[in-house]
Amino acid sequence: MIKADLHTHTIFSKDSLSHVEDVLAAAMKRGMGAIAITDHDGIEGAIEAQNIARKRRLPLQVIVGEEVRTDDGDLLAYFVKERIAPGKLSDVLAEVKKQKAVCSAAHPYDTVRHGIDLQGLAPGVLGKIGAVEVLNARVMEASQNARAMGFALKNRKALLAGSDAHHPSEVGAAYVEFYGVSALGAHSLLHAQRKIGGKRSPPSVRFYSRYAVLRKKLAKLFQP
Ligand SMILES: [Zn+2]
Repeated sequence: MIKADLHTHTIFSKDSLSHVEDVLAAAMKRGMGAIAITDHDGIEGAIEAQNIARKRRLPLQVIVGEEVRTDDGDLLAYFVKERIAPGKLSDVLAEVKKQKAVCSAAHPYDTVRHGIDLQGLAPGVLGKIGAVEVLNARVMEASQNARAMGFALKNRKALLAGSDAHHPSEVGAAYVEFYGVSALGAHSLLHAQRKIGGKRSPPSVRFYSRYAVLRKKLAKLFQP
């Protein structure tokens, strides 16, 4: 069995101050065997994390991911080889396929945070999204996760989950336990047997990301 938090952010995201090393330490402390770093529109933090984990032979698999902003909402991509540029959903999906990566609709019913309206997608487009994030620890309402779960089950999408941590203390709040595998790949991420675990983080965690955005804006203003 391998336990994985599939949605985390680092200082390479505009709304997080989490250092890569602290995210890795938090993941191991909470018993994760794998973690996907999914910074907004970039993979620098994920690559750095993967390099650190490999160099130090950490008992933690780092999946290079990205939370890509598309015109239809946020898409999580996993096993990304090169940064995927934000843009039209169809273009982003084509790039995911080209890189042999897999993707998941991030917090689909959280419209305030740019969830993709899965119900409104054409079947051909929906068919290219292999998974749905059915437990995101940062959604505003529990019902948004419940609806995502309902949609995923009805449409036979793989179930995924993640903390959406913007601070190390949130890492591992939501996770997936994968059975019958000791490491994850693009195929097992979609097809291995799994159980979703964890719960929503308290609303106060949003302070971390707001504070991070503010601090980064101020830092820019006062740059020499
Ligand atoms: Zn996120």
